[in-house]
Amino acid sequence: MNYTTNFKEVQAYQGTSFRNIARNVALDILSLRNTFLDTATMLAKPRVHFLFIHHIFNDEVANFEKVLEVLSEKHTFISHSEAVRRIVSGDVDKPYISWSSDDGFKNNLKAAEILDRFDAKCCFFINPESIGKKNATWITDFCETRLKMPPVAFMNWEEVADLQRRGHEIGSHTLEHTNVSEMPLEAFEKDLMHSKSILEERCGPIAHFAYPYGRFFDFNKAAFDLVFKTGYDSCSTAERGCHISDGTPLEKNSLLIRRDQVICAWKFEHIMYFISNTARRAVLDSNYVPNDYL
Ligand SMILES: [Zn+2]
Repeated sequence: MNYTTNFKEVQAYQGTSFRNIARNVALDILSLRNTFLDTATMLAKPRVHFLFIHHIFNDEVANFEKVLEVLSEKHTFISHSEAVRRIVSGDVDKPYISWSSDDGFKNNLKAAEILDRFDAKCCFFINPESIGKKNATWITDFCETRLKMPPVAFMNWEEVADLQRRGHEIGSHTLEHTNVSEMPLEAFEKDLMHSKSILEERCGPIAHFAYPYGRFFDFNKAAFDLVFKTGYDSCSTAERGCHISDGTPLEKNSLLIRRDQVICAWKFEHIMYFISNTARRAVLDSNYVPNDYL
């Protein structure tokens, strides 16, 4: 089985749509504008900024190193647990970045190797069902139907344990990458407990959860409440945003984490545009579930 090793193969698989091309042109213009605005001032804003990846394929390595290099100049990298603690206690005095990664691909080990060089601790949100899977048909089907990806190899449990030994954290991303909005609430509650207990048997206490697909409409308020009821300390989306504080502590079960996705195959200027633009638009409301959340 030949697993995907370059992001180019993912692009070929997913197709380059007209929309993507138009988006690239728009981003070129926006990121050009950003170089005239004061990016340094935006990035100096005290905040907790969660950045997340899914993969670091071979053709993404150089850009990932560059992003870390540039961000490390003005930011303190902190673990997911420390990031949550800072927001909840109202202790957000500097620009902080916390890295996470979803889906448990084997190329996350390359990401960890680079993160280690910057002493950046990452939280890896994994699906216990895909960890250690070797069956090519199963992997091809799972990647196609659940992740919209060509076949990519997954980590095994020894590799997960090694990440932990190096100071990284492990979180739940549901048992098998199910869309929570399509699950009955009772099934989701079982999934939260079951994935937690499998991970805890392998990894020790599990405090963090990130739901698959990550948009607000892939989740709901009742599901959000269940995450804390089943013993997790945090719940992450994939909605863009970052977290600021006016010094007032908040209840941990009222924090809905926003994360900015970083795809390192994007142009460096586009990645920096997204990150600085999120910092510029930071508001206190982004700490909570949206007002119209059902
Ligand atoms: Zn995912």
